[in-house]
Amino acid sequence: MKLKILLLVALAGSINLLSAQLHEEIVVDENFSPKVNKSEVQWKKELSSSQYRVLRQAGTEYAFTSELLDNKEEGTYHCVACEAPLFESEYKYDSGSGWPSFDRPIKGAIAYDVDYNIGVQRIEEKCANCGSHLGHVFNDGPIRTTGKRHCINGVALKFIPNGK
Ligand SMILES: [Zn+2]
Repeated sequence: MKLKILLLVALAGSINLLSAQLHEEIVVDENFSPKVNKSEVQWKKELSSSQYRVLRQAGTEYAFTSELLDNKEEGTYHCVACEAPLFESEYKYDSGSGWPSFDRPIKGAIAYDVDYNIGVQRIEEKCANCGSHLGHVFNDGPIRTTGKRHCINGVALKFIPNGK
């Protein structure tokens, strides 16, 4: 019995260590400024009205409406506004939330900000390249990997399958 407990403790310890290693640091950079700068008039011209509402006005698409939600193809999810690569398909998972979800982004692709738009503090995700709003990150992701749920509006993403 004692051994069993000891083993469980050891196992729990190694899982913690593993998740600590995979744990991507989410740091809000107050001095963030995007590399790509366009006027809102220009963005409005380039984006569809639903894209503009999400990407430039921090809107949220209706849950379960994105055609990328159940996409299981291998490839890369890019920012639809500036084409910067943001997420890899291998880190996409079914969170049940109704929005495309990933347990981690491509390193350096995301800028984080704090928002209080719905009265509670949430961590907003923006494209680090063009500053467009993508979604939010929450701490209820897969515990076996990063524990993070990057909850992204499908309308903000452009999927490019591998080899294309
Ligand atoms: Zn972008």
